[in-house]
Amino acid sequence: MEISQLVDYLRNYDGKPVRLMEVCGSHTHAISEHGIRELLSPKIELLSGPGCPVCVTPTAYIDRLIELSLEVDTTVVTFGDLLRVPGSKESLNEAKGRGASVIMVYSPMDVLKLARDNPLRKYVFAAVGFETTAPVYTLLLDRAIEEKLDNIRLLTALKTMPGAISYLCEKGANIDGFIAPGHVSAVTGAAYFVDLAEKYHIPFAVSGFSAKELVVAIFGLVKMIEKGEDKVANYYTSVVDLEKNEIVEAQFQKYYKKADVAWRGMGILPGTGLMLKEDYAHFDAGSAGLDVDNKKNIACRCGDILMGKAKPSDCPLFGKVCTPSSPQGACMVSQEGSCNNAFLS
Ligand code: SF4
Repeated sequence: MEISQLVDYLRNYDGKPVRLMEVCGSHTHAISEHGIRELLSPKIELLSGPGCPVCVTPTAYIDRLIELSLEVDTTVVTFGDLLRVPGSKESLNEAKGRGASVIMVYSPMDVLKLARDNPLRKYVFAAVGFETTAPVYTLLLDRAIEEKLDNIRLLTALKTMPGAISYLCEKGANIDGFIAPGHVSAVTGAAYFVDLAEKYHIPFAVSGFSAKELVVAIFGLVKMIEKGEDKVANYYTSVVDLEKNEIVEAQFQKYYKKADVAWRGMGILPGTGLMLKEDYAHFDAGSAGLDVDNKKNIACRCGDILMGKAKPSDCPLFGKVCTPSSPQGACMVSQEGSCNNAFLS
């Protein structure tokens, strides 16, 4: 079928109402950017799930980063999107304004040069992310060990998707189908989601990020729902393999062990975190137990939004007190956050 026919079908769809969820921050951004919601029948609802790594990180993690950045011999190194995320009292950026040592980089590997050049200073990398970024930290630790750099630490808030999707299927907002996370699928392979599809009798569509790819994936999902199928369909074959990627699985196991960790708004989810193994504890900047989520603004509804139980416009602060220039919650900070995208679209 031509893409225009798929769009016509989705625009005029008049079957059973369906609720689809994307669990990838880049999909959240792409769906807003391409105006995909506006193409769909009111009977096809698109929800944004916990796919933005910054958005699911509890405030205690931000507080710990701030604490470290204020130690005299320590610098926190981070990607830019973490700088403005509110902790329980302030953000890293605000702490920087009162003397905290924080450096923004574009790659975790940049920390190697900093550590080499300043051996008496400790560099703590804010290791936030999903299956997509975990292999880069493996590479970083490989290099740190090889070069005998003993002044690099990770504060890990690494998470894996299946446990969170499982939680959404059991306690979420009656989701009928998932747009599988595109970047995660590229690393893990599409088969990573087969067990979930079968267990919860729910279809998954692996999608790319262009408007055309998203339309194809949404059409595929609606069709699978109509037929009562619980398959994983891979519509991103140029990048994603169907088979599970065992090499990545081995990379996870090299330095990390699974741990029960908190997701903002969802509580502690068993086995969804990746923490450093005991043998590598000397690289850990104190990552355990950062599960408390004391919101800076108690009216913030990020948790409900990440669960698909509320939309950004349901939050009383949206667009008033909370804007991208004055974010009250993590979902308004990142380009991948639901509130940020809803505000800018
Ligand atoms: Fe939180 Fe702001 Fe979104 Fe409201 S609009 S849920 S305060 S991030």
